[in-house]
Amino acid sequence: MTTGTSFRVAADVVPGVVVDRHDAVEVTIDGHTMPAYRGDTVTSALLANGYRRVGDSIYLGRPRGVLACGIEDPNSLVTVTRAKANTISETMLIGPTVEVTNNMVADHVQGIGKLAETADPEYYDYTYEHPDVLVVGAGPAGLAAALQASRAGARVLILDERATFGGNLVGTPEAVIDGKPADTWIAETVAELQANDDVTLLGRTTVFGAYENNYFMATQRRTDHLDEQVPFGVSRERTLHIRAKQVVLATGSHERPIVFKNNDRPGIMLASGIAGYLNRYGVLAGSSIALFTTNDSVYPLARQLAELGHLVAVVDVRTELSEVALQAVAAGVNIISASVVCDTACNDQDELTGITVAEYLDDGALGATRRLEVDTLGVSGGWSPVIHLHSQRQGKVAWDHEVQGFVIGQPRADFHYAGSVTGSLMLGEALANGAHAGAAAADATGHFSFVEEPVAAAGHRGPVAALRMVASPDGEDAEAYANHFVDLHRDQTVADVLRATGAGMSSVEHIKRYTSISTGNDQGKTGAVNAIGVMSELLDGHTMDDIGTTTFRAPYSPISYVGLAGRQRGKLFDPLRKTAMDRAHEELGAVFEMAGEWRRASYYPRAGETKAQAIRRETIAARNGVGMIDSSTLGKIEIRGKDSAEFLNRIYTNGFLKLAVGRGRYGVMTGVNGKVFDDGVTLRLAEDRFFMHTTSGGAQRVLNWLENWHQTEWSHLDATFTSVSEQFSTVAVSGPKARRVMEQLATDVDFATEAFEFMEFRHTTLDNGIPARISRISFTGELSYELAVPTQYGRALWDAVAQAGASYDITPYGLEAQRILRAEKGFVIVGQDTDGTNSPQDVGMDWVVSKLKQDFLGKRSYALDDFQRDDREELVAIMATDQISLVRDGAALVTAEDLDAPRPVATSGHVTGYYESAALGRTFGLALVRGGSKRIGEKLYAPAYDPPVEFEITPLVSFDPEGTRRDGQR
Ligand code: NAD
Repeated sequence: MTTGTSFRVAADVVPGVVVDRHDAVEVTIDGHTMPAYRGDTVTSALLANGYRRVGDSIYLGRPRGVLACGIEDPNSLVTVTRAKANTISETMLIGPTVEVTNNMVADHVQGIGKLAETADPEYYDYTYEHPDVLVVGAGPAGLAAALQASRAGARVLILDERATFGGNLVGTPEAVIDGKPADTWIAETVAELQANDDVTLLGRTTVFGAYENNYFMATQRRTDHLDEQVPFGVSRERTLHIRAKQVVLATGSHERPIVFKNNDRPGIMLASGIAGYLNRYGVLAGSSIALFTTNDSVYPLARQLAELGHLVAVVDVRTELSEVALQAVAAGVNIISASVVCDTACNDQDELTGITVAEYLDDGALGATRRLEVDTLGVSGGWSPVIHLHSQRQGKVAWDHEVQGFVIGQPRADFHYAGSVTGSLMLGEALANGAHAGAAAADATGHFSFVEEPVAAAGHRGPVAALRMVASPDGEDAEAYANHFVDLHRDQTVADVLRATGAGMSSVEHIKRYTSISTGNDQGKTGAVNAIGVMSELLDGHTMDDIGTTTFRAPYSPISYVGLAGRQRGKLFDPLRKTAMDRAHEELGAVFEMAGEWRRASYYPRAGETKAQAIRRETIAARNGVGMIDSSTLGKIEIRGKDSAEFLNRIYTNGFLKLAVGRGRYGVMTGVNGKVFDDGVTLRLAEDRFFMHTTSGGAQRVLNWLENWHQTEWSHLDATFTSVSEQFSTVAVSGPKARRVMEQLATDVDFATEAFEFMEFRHTTLDNGIPARISRISFTGELSYELAVPTQYGRALWDAVAQAGASYDITPYGLEAQRILRAEKGFVIVGQDTDGTNSPQDVGMDWVVSKLKQDFLGKRSYALDDFQRDDREELVAIMATDQISLVRDGAALVTAEDLDAPRPVATSGHVTGYYESAALGRTFGLALVRGGSKRIGEKLYAPAYDPPVEFEITPLVSFDPEGTRRDGQR
């Protein structure tokens, strides 16, 4: 693996400004134990010790090397284990950003990591920040902005994801600011900012998301770089929630590669990567180095490498040498102009050994070629401004031909932009517009100041050539482009883009998804612009600008979920909702099940009973005697306002205008598509006041649905909606003896059938003093009453009902029994018997859909052909012929012919619930069956069973179809 081509340079030659050569550590990378210095990263340590390979590529398994010196590196992804107690190994970390600690272990992964399987024992936290001015990026532009804004008196928060401040300026030996070496200017500026109590300057802090109203989120990595374990309670990461009045984006730019044949070999890097490793870490990435460029940014590096005796040549695609290039020539740099690198070669260790340089002809074709023996190639295809946070906020971006990059198209309100994010690569400009951005931002928060621009020597830059892809020396068909890599993390080539355009795609969004370009760990930081460049080349008449770029999404770079969760971990994460009567169920030995977030009693087994026996006993009690169930979880929404009835009339499929005060009505809600999405009984408390019940799981969705229609379409209707689900606890008493139990509970109320009709309700005070609403609603088909009381009386209500019913052997029943009782009656459970595609008519609720109402949500759908189809799935009951078979929910149903036909066959439908029924003395279930209501008597089969279970289709209501039991015994 090691060739020794890369190495650490002697301190007196290039010191490397971010490493401390007096503080040695030892690290193990990919199984090799090696020395490093404090300040090194995984990749700088690797290169310093002569290793250049990182993980192989994700799909093709091609050998890859370090590409960049920062967050934009798509190749070096590591799993890191630190030598301290109470840390877990973390994966998919970007090698150039991982600082070494003593005895750490880092292992490269092949594009995909594996999460640690143990829980993370460390501590995570968050803070809220409200600066006047947020400065993102502490390069020269950001520092100048923060300096200016803080001198104006503004409260400034300045954040940079790197460990050191100064951005790309760090370790640029040629740069001078205000007459001082740039590194001195950085140190003095940082010292001034740190001394100011109104300034917070944080390194190792990534602003990863930008949201409405200048809300930003950032992650600060606080302890990873420390050797020692910090005490528990000191957070490893801190999430910053930032509300900034003004923002300065000084996020810089990323260099990008050029696409050519075999451009992915270890040893091929970004030129800025070579410069970064050299000047920041004192590490030379190779011994004989060529540079390949479209622009002037490589020339300071070229001169430095020439001086060190390691430069072979600069291949510059431009025909005319710029002033900067000419100065380099004068300083001894060998430039091969009007040429490109069109291929590379390697040895059997997969290390770069040479490049093929071709003349670059006017039409982009390749001319004469020659070979250069080099072990390293530094590439610069131009610079892409880091516009991510602007784009996350839907800020417009535009292609700038001069910059050869996507730049800010239109500034966002309260955003200021400074430095190379604007496209300018000149230090002097970065400092000047940094100071102006800082002043403007501070000014906007009421802090005026005179602008003091830090001054740097004026530089000069020649034009940037528009080259993103070099033609293949092997021809024009797709195979000739199979090793022209566009996205290194996703292993996607020009051939892959050709496949996408060949399939007819021309939009960047489609091609991104078809090829997966830019969807990797690096989110296309180095690959996206080249992908668009390749597209514009392949799609005649499409320019960079009209292809455009995709909108960036948070996070800017990978962040940890655990950091986002902060302290909200463990059981707190998914709160368990219990009703006020939960303890009573526990005391009764209930077996619980989850219904959404709610914990509900499933059944109450008695000593020695099986689950089936318990459920059977509970259903028998509710049919023959009396049962009670905690139905507190039902969603409840109070609706007030003089137009409430009109509002409900539009929301529900049936009429609500004429519902009398004191009565309730069952209603079904559908989407505008006419498909059922919730149901429940709504009571009319007063002319202008309703009390709606929703399904337990649907409460929030329904509230949003009401609010949405009210706020967007019918805001002129006077209606307000209040969620009161938790305000009331409810017990339903059901069974022929229910009336007798009720008479014990509320002696004031006349429970005679004629005095208290079905779907009526009463407000009363129970004999024990609890205020209650009693409604005659039934979900079992038996005589039933629902008692709703303020939640603080929930437990007392349960006990009171149990006591009143004791002499009638009142039996608590759970969800399992309730499912059977309601299925026997053909009552639908939305979400169990419906799947979002069914109309009310499909599930036996034609009667709930008004034929008279002018309009209601969903009405127009029913006129569509699709709703008239004879073969719509309809809810029916099914009965196993053998009377005892049981099948799973969801079991597919087919006809007798299809049972023996070669697979695949179309199903006739599926089972939505299948049960054992004591009342029917057999098993039965509900099923959605094509044209079901017209197929009563037909046989269907569940082929998943051996032998297949045979069923007969029967009408939806299996028990007491005439409804004779609803009023109970007189
Ligand atoms: P910069 O690249 O120096 O600094 C940008 C800083 O922003 C970096 O430190 C980066 O870590 C940080 N950053 C970016 N996104 C971030 C985020 N989301 N959260 C936290 N930090 C984030 O850019 P600048 O200040 O605009 O200055 C540009 C400098 O780079 C000048 O010195 C310029 O001359 C130089 N430069 C030179 C060349 C060249 O031709 N050699 C090319 C590019 C830039």
